[in-house]
Amino acid sequence: MKIRSVHAFAIRSDLVGGPARTSARRPAWVDHAEVANPMSHYARFKRLRSSWRPRWPAVACIVTAQDGQWGLGMTRYGSPVIAIINEHLAPLLAGESCEDIAALWQMLQRLTSPYAGGLSCYAISAIDLALWDLRGRHECQPVHRLLGGGARADLPVYATGNDPDWYLELGFDALKIACPYGPADGPAGLDANEALLREVRALAGLERDLMVDCWMAFDLPYALEFAARVRPMGLSWIEDCLMPEDFDGLAALRAGTPGQALAGGEHWYTPEPFERALRAGCLDVLQPDIGWASGLSGCLRIAELARAAGRPVILHAGMNTAYGQHFSLAVPNVPQGEYFVGSAPGVPLEEVRLTPGTPVPVKGRLAPSDEPGFGLGLTLDAARALAI
Ligand SMILES: [Mg+2]
Repeated sequence: MKIRSVHAFAIRSDLVGGPARTSARRPAWVDHAEVANPMSHYARFKRLRSSWRPRWPAVACIVTAQDGQWGLGMTRYGSPVIAIINEHLAPLLAGESCEDIAALWQMLQRLTSPYAGGLSCYAISAIDLALWDLRGRHECQPVHRLLGGGARADLPVYATGNDPDWYLELGFDALKIACPYGPADGPAGLDANEALLREVRALAGLERDLMVDCWMAFDLPYALEFAARVRPMGLSWIEDCLMPEDFDGLAALRAGTPGQALAGGEHWYTPEPFERALRAGCLDVLQPDIGWASGLSGCLRIAELARAAGRPVILHAGMNTAYGQHFSLAVPNVPQGEYFVGSAPGVPLEEVRLTPGTPVPVKGRLAPSDEPGFGLGLTLDAARALAI
């Protein structure tokens, strides 16, 4: 079965559903909460991440076979990623075999090697996910079954966000807080971070897992001090402290925080940096994003590296997409999933605008769709109609 066409186009990031039936009790944390970030040192951009992040739409990619079968992959970063797919990769993929996903993955990495980095891997992710969706549809199997899943029916899920009371009410047993302050906020920020985590620990109780995400905002001295200050809170892990390529800093952080698990990798895009981090022993939990880190094929390779090193993979926001749900259920060294909650407290998760065929966690657990492919539940016309 040969590829007839590959076509990418812009879509909204939240695809279906109208306004929620239930009223919000208060605005969601994402609308008002400050989060420490790499731009926190720039006063003009410090307050909200939305003040400096690009406004590119999300991206859909449809791969169509010569017999008309098709698959849908999705990723981020709008026009640059769409250009990489439509203007470079799509014409070169036409006529290749749809079944040779592993070989095509390597071909795509080599085709983009002159400009490889983040954006090329977002493009590869969308194509790879579309190829897996196509394979599942062709074989009338959910992708989690193609991957050999079947040992478990569902997965535990933790909630990420800064409305922890709401997540506990929803039945989550594990929470991750976005760290509000970093080096730009000085000692008062460090005190406030410590106070917030102490407050959330008291709210959640000792029996629940609690984690914190630092979203590349820290430097090494701050990260070491932060880890020492939050030690009494018994965090299951501290995440993404440093800029993504600071491997020396990560190794020093690992050496300086014995007994404290460290997580990261959502801004790494190929297996190589994960392999490097595993070899240096500087990360305990690997967090690739299946829509960014070269797709399902990339994450399978990362998971195999992690398995050999005795480490778990917990995808970045993996439970927010059907892609992450299928992968996470099927791969044995994925112990749980992350669900990023950007919606307002009081509004049931199933009333939030979502991608079709993407179940939401119920009482902190989730089972993916059993429909063919990733179970996205769209006709080809409906998929094409997502275009904006
Ligand atoms: Mg994170």
